[in-house]
Amino acid sequence: MRPRGGAAAQALLFDFDNTLHDQAAAYRRALEVGVAPHFAPGITVDDVAARCHASWAELWAAYVAGRLDEDGLYTAWFASMRAATGGQARTADLRGAFEAAEDAALRPYPDVLPALAAARALRPGIRLAVVTNGAARRQRARLEGMGLVREIPVLVISGALGVAKPEPGIFARALADLGVAAEQAVMVGDSPEADVAGAKRAGLGAVWLNRAGVAWPEGVAPGPDAVAADLQAAVRAALGSEA
Ligand SMILES: [Mg+2]
Repeated sequence: MRPRGGAAAQALLFDFDNTLHDQAAAYRRALEVGVAPHFAPGITVDDVAARCHASWAELWAAYVAGRLDEDGLYTAWFASMRAATGGQARTADLRGAFEAAEDAALRPYPDVLPALAAARALRPGIRLAVVTNGAARRQRARLEGMGLVREIPVLVISGALGVAKPEPGIFARALADLGVAAEQAVMVGDSPEADVAGAKRAGLGAVWLNRAGVAWPEGVAPGPDAVAADLQAAVRAALGSEA
């Protein structure tokens, strides 16, 4: 990687959802296991997933804009989930069932702990952070539940900060918390715009984690310094090692 990252990298920043864990799978599982038993007749998981996805996008925009706090965000979202399921269960019961099923489904991808160990071996003293867009309390609880807080001590969560990827302010906050300059840091993540283009515009290096082997989306720039199919390869690329 030139000119950023590589041999100069003193810090790695990781996205969380769909980079360190399969967020889409955990969400689907929470609907299937936790929520589906409360569906009215004729309702399907696909129906509920689509409606909840749409309402989340709308409510998330209000949360980011400061019109909703985290409690308001989740209260409104679970109310929309109740409506989508046909309204047979109480909202609080649906929420409890969803969160319990999601907690049970959350686990890091199998390559996460080996990749972190490889980073420490390749670059002793490497500093590690998670930089994630999400609601502050729930996102921290997910990281704690997976045991990742003890592995990655610096957590930068957009909901706690009022600024989200791809905006440069969230990367600046992570660099300040890590005590490194932008050119000493590499962001690793699955989102072309939020993780890669955002980090590059903020002056960091960036490795695109492309687990599914999809094409880089047209019109998103700048592109990554390197592309990796798994997290261990991403760490090696970020640290400029072929080992
Ligand atoms: Mg992601």
